[in-house]
Amino acid sequence: MPQVNNWQLGRDMGYVYDAKYPARQFAFVFNINRCIACQTCTMACKSTWTFSKGQEHMWWANVESKPYGGYPQSWDAKILRMLEEANPGEQRWSEPASADNGQPYGQYDGQTIFEAAEQTLTPDSARVLGYLPPDEEWNSPNIYEDNPVGGRGVRDRLHETGEQLPIHNTWFFYLARICNHCSYPACLAACPRKAIYKRPEDGIVLIDQEQCRGYRKCVEACPYKKAMYRGNTRTTEKCIACYPRVEGTDPESDGQPMETRCMASCIGQIRMQGLVQLNDDGSWAEDRQNPLYYLVHVAKVALPLYPQLGTQPNGYYIPPRWVPRPYLRQMFGPGVDEAIERYVNPDRELLAVLQLFRRSNKIIFRYEFEEGPQVYEGTLRGRPVTLYNDTVIAFGSDGNELFRTTVEEPLHVRPEQHANSI
Ligand code: SF4
Ligand code: SF4
Ligand code: SF4
Repeated sequence: MPQVNNWQLGRDMGYVYDAKYPARQFAFVFNINRCIACQTCTMACKSTWTFSKGQEHMWWANVESKPYGGYPQSWDAKILRMLEEANPGEQRWSEPASADNGQPYGQYDGQTIFEAAEQTLTPDSARVLGYLPPDEEWNSPNIYEDNPVGGRGVRDRLHETGEQLPIHNTWFFYLARICNHCSYPACLAACPRKAIYKRPEDGIVLIDQEQCRGYRKCVEACPYKKAMYRGNTRTTEKCIACYPRVEGTDPESDGQPMETRCMASCIGQIRMQGLVQLNDDGSWAEDRQNPLYYLVHVAKVALPLYPQLGTQPNGYYIPPRWVPRPYLRQMFGPGVDEAIERYVNPDRELLAVLQLFRRSNKIIFRYEFEEGPQVYEGTLRGRPVTLYNDTVIAFGSDGNELFRTTVEEPLHVRPEQHANSI
Protein backbone atom coordinates (compact mmCIF):
# COMPACT_ATOMS: atom_id res chain seq x y z
CA MET A 1 0.00 0.00 0.00
CA PRO A 2 1.26 3.54 -0.68
CA GLN A 3 2.33 5.48 2.42
CA VAL A 4 0.67 8.82 3.17
CA ASN A 5 1.18 11.37 5.94
CA ASN A 6 -1.55 11.36 8.58
CA TRP A 7 -0.76 14.39 10.77
CA GLN A 8 -3.52 13.50 13.25
CA LEU A 9 -1.73 10.20 13.96
CA GLY A 10 1.73 11.79 13.95
CA ARG A 11 3.04 9.26 11.41
CA ASP A 12 2.78 7.88 7.91
CA MET A 13 0.18 5.21 7.28
CA GLY A 14 -0.83 2.86 4.49
CA TYR A 15 -3.68 4.02 2.22
CA VAL A 16 -5.11 2.46 -0.89
CA TYR A 17 -4.12 5.35 -3.21
CA ASP A 18 -1.24 7.80 -3.41
CA ALA A 19 -1.72 11.04 -1.51
CA LYS A 20 -3.55 13.83 -3.34
CA TYR A 21 -4.79 16.94 -1.60
CA PRO A 22 -7.27 19.66 -2.53
CA ALA A 23 -6.38 23.35 -2.72
CA ARG A 24 -8.63 24.02 0.27
CA GLN A 25 -10.39 21.59 2.59
CA PHE A 26 -13.97 21.71 3.88
CA ALA A 27 -13.73 21.48 7.69
CA PHE A 28 -15.86 22.23 10.73
CA VAL A 29 -15.79 22.58 14.52
CA PHE A 30 -18.70 21.46 16.73
CA ASN A 31 -18.78 22.57 20.37
CA ILE A 32 -20.41 19.62 22.14
CA ASN A 33 -20.75 21.63 25.35
CA ARG A 34 -23.45 23.72 23.70
CA CYS A 35 -25.55 21.14 21.81
CA ILE A 36 -29.11 20.77 23.11
CA ALA A 37 -30.20 17.96 20.73
CA CYS A 38 -32.98 20.08 19.28
CA GLN A 39 -32.37 18.20 15.98
CA THR A 40 -32.87 21.37 13.93
CA CYS A 41 -29.71 20.52 12.00
CA THR A 42 -31.02 17.02 11.37
CA MET A 43 -34.30 18.34 9.97
CA ALA A 44 -32.60 21.10 7.96
CA CYS A 45 -30.65 18.45 6.06
CA LYS A 46 -33.59 16.07 5.78
CA SER A 47 -35.94 18.72 4.41
CA THR A 48 -33.33 19.87 1.90
CA TRP A 49 -31.75 16.68 0.58
CA THR A 50 -33.37 13.43 1.78
CA PHE A 51 -37.15 13.89 1.71
CA SER A 52 -37.82 11.62 -1.30
CA LYS A 53 -39.06 8.08 -1.65
CA GLY A 54 -36.33 5.59 -0.81
CA GLN A 55 -34.56 8.05 1.49
CA GLU A 56 -36.79 7.56 4.53
CA HIS A 57 -34.03 5.93 6.60
CA MET A 58 -31.37 8.46 5.60
CA TRP A 59 -30.15 11.08 8.06
CA TRP A 60 -27.03 12.62 6.54
CA ALA A 61 -26.94 14.91 9.57
CA ASN A 62 -27.83 13.23 12.85
CA VAL A 63 -27.43 13.89 16.57
CA GLU A 64 -27.04 10.87 18.85
CA SER A 65 -26.93 10.60 22.67
CA LYS A 66 -23.64 9.11 23.77
CA PRO A 67 -22.61 6.62 24.97
CA TYR A 68 -25.63 4.40 24.20
CA GLY A 69 -27.17 6.05 21.15
CA GLY A 70 -25.83 5.63 17.65
CA TYR A 71 -26.97 5.87 14.05
CA PRO A 72 -26.64 3.20 12.82
CA GLN A 73 -26.81 1.50 16.16
CA SER A 74 -23.45 0.96 17.93
CA TRP A 75 -21.47 2.00 14.83
CA ASP A 76 -18.48 3.18 16.83
CA ALA A 77 -18.42 0.34 19.37
CA LYS A 78 -18.54 -2.16 16.50
CA ILE A 79 -15.66 -0.76 14.46
CA LEU A 80 -13.53 -0.21 17.59
CA ARG A 81 -14.12 -3.83 18.59
CA MET A 82 -13.11 -5.03 15.11
CA LEU A 83 -9.90 -3.02 15.32
CA GLU A 84 -9.16 -4.38 18.77
CA GLU A 85 -9.69 -7.94 17.57
CA ALA A 86 -7.39 -7.33 14.62
CA ASN A 87 -4.63 -5.95 16.86
CA PRO A 88 -5.33 -7.04 20.45
CA GLY A 89 -4.00 -4.79 23.19
CA GLU A 90 -1.92 -2.67 20.79
CA GLN A 91 -4.34 0.13 19.84
CA ARG A 92 -2.31 2.75 21.72
CA TRP A 93 -0.79 6.21 21.43
CA SER A 94 2.82 6.89 22.36
CA GLU A 95 5.18 9.88 22.19
CA PRO A 96 4.24 13.10 23.94
CA ALA A 97 2.44 15.64 21.81
CA SER A 98 4.78 18.00 19.98
CA ALA A 99 3.53 20.41 17.35
CA ASP A 100 7.17 21.01 16.30
CA ASN A 101 7.55 17.32 15.38
CA GLY A 102 4.29 17.35 13.46
CA GLN A 103 2.69 15.25 16.21
CA PRO A 104 0.13 17.54 17.88
CA TYR A 105 -1.51 14.59 19.64
CA GLY A 106 1.56 12.36 19.92
CA GLN A 107 1.97 9.25 17.78
CA TYR A 108 -0.60 6.53 17.22
CA ASP A 109 1.08 3.11 17.26
CA GLY A 110 -2.01 0.99 16.70
CA GLN A 111 -3.56 0.01 13.39
CA THR A 112 -5.97 2.02 11.27
CA ILE A 113 -8.88 0.49 9.37
CA PHE A 114 -6.67 0.45 6.25
CA GLU A 115 -3.73 -1.26 7.95
CA ALA A 116 -5.86 -3.78 9.83
CA ALA A 117 -7.61 -4.81 6.61
CA GLU A 118 -4.29 -6.09 5.23
CA GLN A 119 -3.92 -8.61 8.06
CA THR A 120 -7.49 -9.60 8.77
CA LEU A 121 -9.49 -12.30 7.06
CA THR A 122 -11.88 -10.37 4.84
CA PRO A 123 -13.01 -11.03 1.27
CA ASP A 124 -10.28 -10.39 -1.29
CA SER A 125 -12.22 -7.43 -2.55
CA ALA A 126 -12.21 -5.67 0.85
CA ARG A 127 -9.65 -2.88 1.06
CA VAL A 128 -10.82 -1.47 4.38
CA LEU A 129 -11.80 -3.06 7.70
CA GLY A 130 -15.53 -2.52 8.11
CA TYR A 131 -18.98 -4.06 8.27
CA LEU A 132 -22.37 -3.67 6.64
CA PRO A 133 -25.01 -2.72 9.21
CA PRO A 134 -28.23 -4.75 8.87
CA ASP A 135 -31.36 -2.77 7.93
CA GLU A 136 -32.75 -2.69 11.47
CA GLU A 137 -29.70 -0.81 12.76
CA TRP A 138 -30.61 2.18 10.56
CA ASN A 139 -34.22 2.23 11.77
CA SER A 140 -33.95 4.08 15.09
CA PRO A 141 -31.74 7.14 14.63
CA ASN A 142 -32.72 8.52 18.02
CA ILE A 143 -32.42 5.31 20.01
CA TYR A 144 -31.53 5.78 23.70
CA GLU A 145 -31.92 9.55 23.51
CA ASP A 146 -31.09 11.12 26.89
CA ASN A 147 -30.29 7.74 28.48
CA PRO A 148 -27.52 8.45 30.98
CA VAL A 149 -24.79 6.23 32.33
CA GLY A 150 -25.55 5.65 35.99
CA GLY A 151 -22.44 3.81 37.07
CA ARG A 152 -20.20 1.70 34.90
CA GLY A 153 -22.21 -0.22 32.33
CA VAL A 154 -25.60 0.77 33.80
CA ARG A 155 -27.91 2.39 31.24
CA ASP A 156 -30.67 4.84 32.05
CA ARG A 157 -30.28 5.07 35.82
CA LEU A 158 -29.10 7.92 37.93
CA HIS A 159 -25.96 7.42 39.96
CA GLU A 160 -26.55 7.42 43.72
CA THR A 161 -24.50 10.53 44.39
CA GLY A 162 -25.03 14.09 43.23
CA GLU A 163 -23.02 15.55 40.41
CA GLN A 164 -20.28 18.11 40.43
CA LEU A 165 -17.74 19.25 37.87
CA PRO A 166 -15.10 18.43 36.76
CA ILE A 167 -16.64 14.96 36.05
CA HIS A 168 -20.20 13.72 36.46
CA ASN A 169 -21.01 10.16 37.54
CA THR A 170 -24.36 10.30 35.77
CA TRP A 171 -23.64 11.49 32.26
CA PHE A 172 -24.47 11.53 28.60
CA PHE A 173 -23.85 14.00 25.81
CA TYR A 174 -25.06 14.82 22.34
CA LEU A 175 -22.81 13.98 19.42
CA ALA A 176 -23.83 15.81 16.25
CA ARG A 177 -22.47 14.14 13.13
CA ILE A 178 -22.22 14.59 9.38
CA CYS A 179 -19.80 13.12 6.82
CA ASN A 180 -16.28 14.20 7.76
CA HIS A 181 -15.19 14.71 4.14
CA CYS A 182 -12.11 12.80 5.20
CA SER A 183 -8.66 13.47 3.79
CA TYR A 184 -8.26 9.69 3.31
CA PRO A 185 -11.86 8.64 2.72
CA ALA A 186 -12.55 4.99 3.44
CA CYS A 187 -15.62 5.14 1.20
CA LEU A 188 -13.50 6.28 -1.75
CA ALA A 189 -10.80 3.69 -1.03
CA ALA A 190 -13.32 0.85 -1.04
CA CYS A 191 -15.30 1.70 -4.18
CA PRO A 192 -14.45 -0.81 -6.96
CA ARG A 193 -16.16 1.44 -9.56
CA LYS A 194 -14.14 4.55 -8.63
CA ALA A 195 -17.50 6.29 -8.36
CA ILE A 196 -16.43 8.32 -5.31
CA TYR A 197 -14.21 11.34 -5.66
CA LYS A 198 -12.79 14.15 -3.57
CA ARG A 199 -13.17 17.55 -5.20
CA PRO A 200 -9.81 19.23 -5.84
CA GLU A 201 -11.18 22.71 -5.06
CA ASP A 202 -12.62 22.08 -1.57
CA GLY A 203 -12.05 18.44 -0.57
CA ILE A 204 -15.79 17.66 -0.53
CA VAL A 205 -16.33 13.91 -1.06
CA LEU A 206 -19.09 13.01 -3.53
CA ILE A 207 -20.55 9.87 -5.10
CA ASP A 208 -21.08 10.00 -8.86
CA GLN A 209 -24.62 8.64 -9.16
CA GLU A 210 -24.03 7.65 -12.81
CA GLN A 211 -21.08 5.48 -11.89
CA CYS A 212 -22.43 3.94 -8.68
CA ARG A 213 -23.86 0.43 -9.01
CA GLY A 214 -24.88 0.06 -5.37
CA TYR A 215 -22.30 -2.57 -4.36
CA ARG A 216 -22.30 -0.92 -0.89
CA LYS A 217 -18.55 -1.32 -0.44
CA CYS A 218 -18.50 2.29 0.74
CA VAL A 219 -21.29 1.64 3.26
CA GLU A 220 -19.22 -1.24 4.61
CA ALA A 221 -15.98 0.74 4.66
CA CYS A 222 -16.97 4.14 6.06
CA PRO A 223 -16.18 3.79 9.77
CA TYR A 224 -18.54 6.69 10.57
CA LYS A 225 -21.32 5.02 8.54
CA LYS A 226 -22.09 8.16 6.57
CA ALA A 227 -22.55 6.50 3.17
CA MET A 228 -26.14 5.21 2.88
CA TYR A 229 -27.73 2.83 0.40
CA ARG A 230 -30.98 3.76 -1.36
CA GLY A 231 -32.99 0.72 -2.35
CA ASN A 232 -35.24 2.23 -5.02
CA THR A 233 -32.38 3.68 -7.09
CA ARG A 234 -29.88 0.94 -6.15
CA THR A 235 -27.21 3.52 -5.53
CA THR A 236 -25.50 4.87 -2.43
CA GLU A 237 -25.85 8.49 -1.36
CA LYS A 238 -24.15 10.65 1.22
CA CYS A 239 -23.81 14.19 2.60
CA ILE A 240 -22.81 16.51 -0.24
CA ALA A 241 -21.63 19.29 2.12
CA CYS A 242 -24.36 21.49 0.59
CA TYR A 243 -21.77 22.27 -2.07
CA PRO A 244 -23.74 24.98 -3.90
CA ARG A 245 -23.65 27.00 -0.69
CA VAL A 246 -19.94 26.36 -0.10
CA GLU A 247 -19.23 27.35 -3.72
CA GLY A 248 -21.22 30.56 -3.33
CA THR A 249 -23.51 29.54 -6.21
CA ASP A 250 -26.63 29.16 -4.06
CA PRO A 251 -29.12 31.94 -4.90
CA GLU A 252 -29.04 33.13 -1.27
CA SER A 253 -25.28 33.40 -1.06
CA ASP A 254 -24.63 36.66 -3.01
CA GLY A 255 -21.70 34.88 -4.64
CA GLN A 256 -19.92 34.44 -1.32
CA PRO A 257 -19.11 31.01 0.19
CA MET A 258 -21.82 30.15 2.66
CA GLU A 259 -22.02 27.61 5.47
CA THR A 260 -24.10 24.47 4.93
CA ARG A 261 -27.76 24.02 5.88
CA CYS A 262 -27.06 21.99 9.03
CA MET A 263 -24.52 24.59 10.20
CA ALA A 264 -26.63 27.65 9.44
CA SER A 265 -29.71 26.28 11.21
CA CYS A 266 -27.97 25.37 14.47
CA ILE A 267 -30.04 26.68 17.37
CA GLY A 268 -27.41 25.98 20.01
CA GLN A 269 -24.79 27.90 17.99
CA ILE A 270 -22.41 24.97 18.35
CA ARG A 271 -21.28 24.82 14.71
CA MET A 272 -18.73 26.65 12.63
CA GLN A 273 -17.69 25.51 9.16
CA GLY A 274 -15.10 26.81 6.77
CA LEU A 275 -12.39 26.10 4.24
CA VAL A 276 -8.79 25.65 5.37
CA GLN A 277 -5.54 25.86 3.41
CA LEU A 278 -3.37 22.75 3.16
CA ASN A 279 0.37 22.16 2.90
CA ASP A 280 1.81 19.81 0.28
CA ASP A 281 1.68 16.91 2.77
CA GLY A 282 -2.00 17.42 3.63
CA SER A 283 -1.40 19.09 6.99
CA TRP A 284 -3.00 22.48 7.64
CA ALA A 285 -1.02 25.45 6.35
CA GLU A 286 -0.45 28.06 9.02
CA ASP A 287 -3.28 30.57 8.84
CA ARG A 288 -3.30 32.07 12.33
CA GLN A 289 -6.34 34.31 11.83
CA ASN A 290 -8.61 31.63 10.35
CA PRO A 291 -10.95 30.73 13.23
CA LEU A 292 -10.87 26.99 12.45
CA TYR A 293 -7.07 27.01 12.34
CA TYR A 294 -7.04 28.90 15.61
CA LEU A 295 -9.41 26.47 17.39
CA VAL A 296 -7.66 23.32 16.11
CA HIS A 297 -3.99 24.31 16.01
CA VAL A 298 -3.46 27.33 18.27
CA ALA A 299 -5.98 27.05 21.12
CA LYS A 300 -6.15 23.27 20.52
CA VAL A 301 -9.64 23.02 21.98
CA ALA A 302 -11.14 21.16 19.00
CA LEU A 303 -10.17 17.54 18.31
CA PRO A 304 -10.86 15.03 15.50
CA LEU A 305 -13.51 12.32 15.99
CA TYR A 306 -11.88 8.89 16.38
CA PRO A 307 -8.61 9.88 14.69
CA GLN A 308 -7.29 6.34 15.26
CA LEU A 309 -9.54 5.04 12.49
CA GLY A 310 -7.10 6.68 10.07
CA THR A 311 -9.31 8.57 7.60
CA GLN A 312 -8.05 11.96 8.86
CA PRO A 313 -11.57 13.29 9.35
CA ASN A 314 -12.16 17.02 8.89
CA GLY A 315 -14.77 17.32 11.63
CA TYR A 316 -13.43 18.60 14.98
CA TYR A 317 -15.14 18.68 18.37
CA ILE A 318 -14.72 20.66 21.57
CA PRO A 319 -15.16 17.78 24.04
CA PRO A 320 -17.90 17.85 26.71
CA ARG A 321 -16.26 18.87 29.96
CA TRP A 322 -18.40 16.78 32.35
CA VAL A 323 -17.69 13.37 30.81
CA PRO A 324 -15.20 10.80 32.22
CA ARG A 325 -11.88 11.36 30.49
CA PRO A 326 -11.09 7.75 29.43
CA TYR A 327 -14.26 7.71 27.32
CA LEU A 328 -13.34 11.03 25.72
CA ARG A 329 -9.72 9.99 25.12
CA GLN A 330 -10.94 6.97 23.21
CA MET A 331 -13.24 9.17 21.14
CA PHE A 332 -11.01 12.20 20.50
CA GLY A 333 -7.47 11.01 21.22
CA PRO A 334 -4.88 12.11 23.77
CA GLY A 335 -5.50 15.86 23.37
CA VAL A 336 -8.68 15.74 25.48
CA ASP A 337 -7.33 16.86 28.86
CA GLU A 338 -5.51 19.87 27.46
CA ALA A 339 -8.50 20.84 25.30
CA ILE A 340 -10.92 20.79 28.24
CA GLU A 341 -8.51 22.67 30.47
CA ARG A 342 -8.21 25.46 27.88
CA TYR A 343 -11.94 25.55 27.19
CA VAL A 344 -12.83 25.77 30.87
CA ASN A 345 -10.26 28.50 31.51
CA PRO A 346 -10.23 30.40 28.21
CA ASP A 347 -7.84 33.24 27.55
CA ARG A 348 -9.17 36.49 26.11
CA GLU A 349 -8.69 35.54 22.49
CA LEU A 350 -10.36 32.12 22.83
CA LEU A 351 -13.35 33.65 24.58
CA ALA A 352 -13.67 36.16 21.75
CA VAL A 353 -13.32 33.54 18.98
CA LEU A 354 -16.04 31.43 20.61
CA GLN A 355 -18.39 34.38 19.97
CA LEU A 356 -17.95 33.94 16.20
CA PHE A 357 -20.17 30.86 16.12
CA ARG A 358 -23.37 31.46 14.13
CA ARG A 359 -23.37 35.24 13.91
CA SER A 360 -23.43 34.94 10.11
CA ASN A 361 -24.19 32.25 7.53
CA LYS A 362 -21.24 33.33 5.37
CA ILE A 363 -17.99 31.42 5.77
CA ILE A 364 -15.47 33.32 7.92
CA PHE A 365 -12.01 33.35 6.34
CA ARG A 366 -10.25 35.63 8.82
CA TYR A 367 -10.88 37.31 12.16
CA GLU A 368 -9.34 40.16 14.10
CA PHE A 369 -9.31 40.60 17.84
CA GLU A 370 -9.57 44.00 19.58
CA GLU A 371 -9.07 44.46 23.29
CA GLY A 372 -11.89 46.07 25.28
CA PRO A 373 -12.38 47.28 28.87
CA GLN A 374 -12.43 45.09 31.97
CA VAL A 375 -16.02 44.30 32.98
CA TYR A 376 -15.72 41.72 35.76
CA GLU A 377 -13.30 40.46 38.38
CA GLY A 378 -13.97 37.52 40.69
CA THR A 379 -13.23 33.85 41.32
CA LEU A 380 -14.54 30.73 39.66
CA ARG A 381 -13.97 27.32 41.30
CA GLY A 382 -11.15 28.83 43.33
CA ARG A 383 -9.40 30.51 40.40
CA PRO A 384 -9.22 34.26 39.84
CA VAL A 385 -11.18 35.33 36.77
CA THR A 386 -11.11 38.67 34.95
CA LEU A 387 -13.45 39.32 32.06
CA TYR A 388 -12.97 41.94 29.35
CA ASN A 389 -15.48 43.12 26.82
CA ASP A 390 -13.24 42.37 23.84
CA THR A 391 -14.41 42.60 20.23
CA VAL A 392 -13.96 40.03 17.48
CA ILE A 393 -14.38 41.01 13.81
CA ALA A 394 -15.11 38.46 11.06
CA PHE A 395 -14.10 38.83 7.39
CA GLY A 396 -15.43 36.93 4.36
CA SER A 397 -13.78 35.50 1.25
CA ASP A 398 -13.66 38.94 -0.43
CA GLY A 399 -11.82 40.45 2.56
CA ASN A 400 -14.79 42.59 3.59
CA GLU A 401 -16.10 42.65 7.14
CA LEU A 402 -19.00 40.25 7.71
CA PHE A 403 -19.82 41.34 11.26
CA ARG A 404 -18.29 42.29 14.59
CA THR A 405 -19.41 41.15 18.00
CA THR A 406 -18.35 41.53 21.61
CA VAL A 407 -17.79 39.12 24.49
CA GLU A 408 -20.59 40.77 26.45
CA GLU A 409 -23.87 40.32 24.65
CA PRO A 410 -25.60 43.63 23.96
CA LEU A 411 -28.47 44.33 26.36
CA HIS A 412 -31.63 45.85 24.92
CA VAL A 413 -34.11 47.27 27.42
CA ARG A 414 -37.65 47.33 26.06
CA PRO A 415 -39.11 50.85 26.21
CA GLU A 416 -41.75 51.31 28.88
CA GLN A 417 -44.64 51.65 26.45
CA HIS A 418 -43.87 48.14 25.11
CA ALA A 419 -43.45 46.47 28.50
CA ASN A 420 -45.51 43.28 28.80
CA SER A 421 -46.74 43.63 25.22
CA ILE A 422 -46.32 41.07 22.48
S1 SF4 B 1 -17.01 10.12 6.78
FE1 SF4 B 1 -17.31 8.19 5.62
S2 SF4 B 1 -18.54 8.80 3.86
FE2 SF4 B 1 -17.62 10.67 4.68
S3 SF4 B 1 -15.67 10.93 3.52
FE3 SF4 B 1 -15.20 9.85 5.45
S4 SF4 B 1 -15.23 7.69 4.87
FE4 SF4 B 1 -16.36 8.79 3.23
S1 SF4 C 1 -23.57 19.59 5.01
FE1 SF4 C 1 -25.55 19.74 3.90
S2 SF4 C 1 -25.79 17.69 2.99
FE2 SF4 C 1 -24.23 17.48 4.62
S3 SF4 C 1 -25.33 16.88 6.49
FE3 SF4 C 1 -25.19 19.12 6.51
S4 SF4 C 1 -27.09 19.84 5.52
FE4 SF4 C 1 -26.85 17.66 5.00
S1 SF4 D 1 -29.14 22.33 15.68
FE1 SF4 D 1 -27.24 22.59 16.86
S2 SF4 D 1 -27.92 22.53 19.00
FE2 SF4 D 1 -29.58 21.64 17.78
S3 SF4 D 1 -29.12 19.44 17.75
FE3 SF4 D 1 -28.17 20.30 15.92
S4 SF4 D 1 -26.05 20.70 16.55
FE4 SF4 D 1 -27.25 20.46 18.43
